[in-house]
Amino acid sequence: MSYVFAPAPVVAVPIAGSSEQFAVRRIYCVGRNYEAHAREMGHDPDREPPFFFSKPADAVLYVAPGATGEFPYPQQSKSVHYEMELVAAIGKAGKDIPAERALEHVYGYALGIDMTRRDLQAEAKKLGRPWDTAKGFDHSAPLGPIHPVSKVGHIDHGAIWLTVNGEEKQRSDVSQLIWSTAETVAYLSTLFELKPGDLVFTGTPEGVGAVVKGDLMKGGVDALGDFSVRVV
Ligand code: MN
Repeated sequence: MSYVFAPAPVVAVPIAGSSEQFAVRRIYCVGRNYEAHAREMGHDPDREPPFFFSKPADAVLYVAPGATGEFPYPQQSKSVHYEMELVAAIGKAGKDIPAERALEHVYGYALGIDMTRRDLQAEAKKLGRPWDTAKGFDHSAPLGPIHPVSKVGHIDHGAIWLTVNGEEKQRSDVSQLIWSTAETVAYLSTLFELKPGDLVFTGTPEGVGAVVKGDLMKGGVDALGDFSVRVV
């Protein structure tokens, strides 16, 4: 058996403090999962069911600890926003997972930024079109290493924040998630069978905004440290 073209390389990110890697299968993202962010996007923060979109696995832009990642400013947009997020990494397959067992499927957590072409998203919303070009573009998922639950535990509280050029733009607490990681994983598993290697971006707090070339984003979640990404 041979392929006409070489298969795409496996997308993998390191496990923090280990030589092992986490092979990425799919990237799911939750929309509007912090009340104040739902409000700033013009929505009623009533607890409507979570909704999801996705990014391709090779949208991952891995940022090593201590390094500064380089996010290439994407084409076809004049308004590219950061969305700092806690990312849950799935380590065990499941579908229709009850919320009280959902965390058993989470292998670890990572820092992530859901980079968004906000102008394309606004146009897609207005026209009832899909969000793929707004959300799933190349390098749209800056991601730090995966921290195993065996080292950091489950993260249901703690600060989540992001600065741009040293100025604080986002600050909230993971406890403010409308749908907790467990509830999100449970709900997502009623829509898709989850498999090891899936990543779940759990949503961003208020304070999203645009960046321009040269800006330095720095984001963190208590227990996971921080990471830096420059817009180039
Ligand atoms: Mn997001």
